[in-house]
Amino acid sequence: MKNEVNRAFMAKKKILFVLAAALTLVACQKKEQPQSFQYNVDKFYDLEILRYDVPEFDSLSLQQKQLVYCLSEAALWGRDILFDQNGRYNLRIRRACEALYESSNLQILKSSNPEEFAAFERYLKRVWFSNGIHHHYSEDKFLPEFSQEWFVAACEQAGVTYDPAILPVMFDPAVMPKRTTAQDGVDLVLNSAGNYYGEGVTQAEAEAWYAAHKDNSPEPLWIGLNSQLVKADNSQFSILNSQLVERVYKVGGLYGEALEHVVYWLREALKYAENDAQKLAIEKMIAFNETGDLKTFNEYCIAWVKDLDSRVDYVNGFTETYSDPLGITGTWESMVNFKDLAATKRTETISKNAQWFEDHSTTDPKYKKEEVKGVSAKVITAAILAGDCYPATPIGINLPNANWIRKEYGSKSVTIDNLVHAYNEAAKGNGFNEEFMIDDETRALYEKYGAVCGDLHTDLHECVGHGSGKLMPGVTKDALKEHASTIEEARADLFGLYFLGDPKLVELGLLPSADAYKAGYYQQQMNGLMTQLVRIEPGKDIEEAHMRNRQLIANWVYEHATNKEVEIIERDGKHYLKVNDYEGLRRLYGELLAEIQRITSEGDYAAAKEMVEKYAVKVNPELHQEILARYKKLNLAPYKGFVNPVYTAVRDAEGNITDVQIDFSEGYVDQHLRYSKDYSPLPDVN
Ligand code: ZN
Repeated sequence: MKNEVNRAFMAKKKILFVLAAALTLVACQKKEQPQSFQYNVDKFYDLEILRYDVPEFDSLSLQQKQLVYCLSEAALWGRDILFDQNGRYNLRIRRACEALYESSNLQILKSSNPEEFAAFERYLKRVWFSNGIHHHYSEDKFLPEFSQEWFVAACEQAGVTYDPAILPVMFDPAVMPKRTTAQDGVDLVLNSAGNYYGEGVTQAEAEAWYAAHKDNSPEPLWIGLNSQLVKADNSQFSILNSQLVERVYKVGGLYGEALEHVVYWLREALKYAENDAQKLAIEKMIAFNETGDLKTFNEYCIAWVKDLDSRVDYVNGFTETYSDPLGITGTWESMVNFKDLAATKRTETISKNAQWFEDHSTTDPKYKKEEVKGVSAKVITAAILAGDCYPATPIGINLPNANWIRKEYGSKSVTIDNLVHAYNEAAKGNGFNEEFMIDDETRALYEKYGAVCGDLHTDLHECVGHGSGKLMPGVTKDALKEHASTIEEARADLFGLYFLGDPKLVELGLLPSADAYKAGYYQQQMNGLMTQLVRIEPGKDIEEAHMRNRQLIANWVYEHATNKEVEIIERDGKHYLKVNDYEGLRRLYGELLAEIQRITSEGDYAAAKEMVEKYAVKVNPELHQEILARYKKLNLAPYKGFVNPVYTAVRDAEGNITDVQIDFSEGYVDQHLRYSKDYSPLPDVN
């Protein structure tokens, strides 16, 4: 977890989530929504704000709703922590801007200089989105498009006081330019604006401290997960055995004012726990927040990963380590969710039939598993997003992060269906499919079946694809070396694609009609050959394993389509994918699956290398340029985030919660102003 290679890997995992969100594709009406549900909320800079629905909320029992409510409150109380972790001036900047924005002089400010005011409003929206003053994804500081003079004068006019130290931090491009730097040859700690280390702490000092405190036991403590390292000489905190001291995130410690509230609501949540396993995990989380004790954190992770039966689940605490330049300290995040029963049933059906899929795949019998076990992927519905999951959010979670716990106790891996659904719905009518799909008929097919195919392909990939097939005696998992992950992803994808077109899926009730799969096939080919290139900069090769695998499949099939099963045609100077024979396309997927399985089972490195180099890496520069130009014209915001629904507890005279109501009407600005008013316990300087 803590070396550079793993950090690069983790960063990629995160990118996947973000980019999956960025590359929106129009999809079908999988779940009926009331006509009035508004997915699109706001758009500014390169950001779009969406709203997500919480289907099946009404199917929760009262106890489960009470639990969701308490855990949601525990989630929202952590918001300030993330702002401060992202930079020590962030809370001061946010508060000064909010005070100005909410001042009674607002109308005067607006009318006296509308352009400066509009720029100021956009800046504040951006600060909320990024939980600070650096872009949430590129991590570069964004500069105000209003002048410092205007800001200073406006604050004076409105009677807003602020720490003048924020001015250079906001306006001077040279001050704190990068939130987390990964640049070679510079001091990563000194050159990162993030607040994981106190002022003046160097990378060498921090690394020496971690090295001296590292726990090498078989069940190691994650030293540094929940603390800030600061210089001992300018701090009143207890001195450890080096010149740095640790300020621990806990009640009574750093961020204690926020964690007190988190603990209060976790205690309330305990009252409504669904079972003893869940209760134990929440108790451990409370104890960890109160003591900061890392052994308790390990116990919490184990209790949490063992809690599989509860419908309601949550993440709450210092979790991912991407933002610490040394990859050790956790960033605060929270997400409350519950099991999506309909979707979970779908993955159970697939997994129950795992042996049938294995027996009927196109692979050579000697590479098949005699006994194959499907994995039942859990699909969840997000109920609230907070901290580092808000407003930008992952669409999948795989925790805990400690490798030894994953090995010994397993992990929970989930996809968040209602967020994916919101991306799809919000993208309807954004012009993407109109630009890139060949004709109305294909678009109509895709709008009808695209989403169901997407879900099902992911399910097949995860539940049976990766688990299928076997290695020949003596072949090890790492035989394909640097091409292993591309080949493995291609294998799982092809397994999914091949069976997506199998009548068995209609028979199992997973696909609504015999030609629904065509939507998934068209999308795979179009994406792999053309549209996924929008994520690649001109002149660059494809590097990411999933993108390589998609191009590998699409390209191989294209080159082997000797009967013109698929082709690329040109119309008015634009290129389009045309599928002439979907059954033929399925046969080609089957052929490639057999070959990729052979390469895997035999550990045939030379063949893997040739396959990847020939089909997966290089990009046709003219086509690439054309795709980029067409995409740019659509003017789509590459990054998306959400507003949360509002939960209201209905209470009786004794204060007991008798019902929980959900409301979706709150807008982006109102939500953030409310959060800053109701959930902002931290002082300006922590
Ligand atoms: Zn995979």
